[in-house]
Amino acid sequence: MINNIVDFFKNLPAKQCTKCGSYIEEQHECYNHTCDECTDIKDL
Ligand SMILES: [Zn+2]
Repeated sequence: MINNIVDFFKNLPAKQCTKCGSYIEEQHECYNHTCDECTDIKDL
């Protein structure tokens, strides 16, 4: 049972960086499993 929509989103599992373990704010559809600090941008 979902009490309200807020609780529904709160129960969603947060993405966590696989390197440092910090939580990741999803800003892109396909985001890496690491946070910005741990993500090496090699394409540039
Ligand atoms: Zn990290």
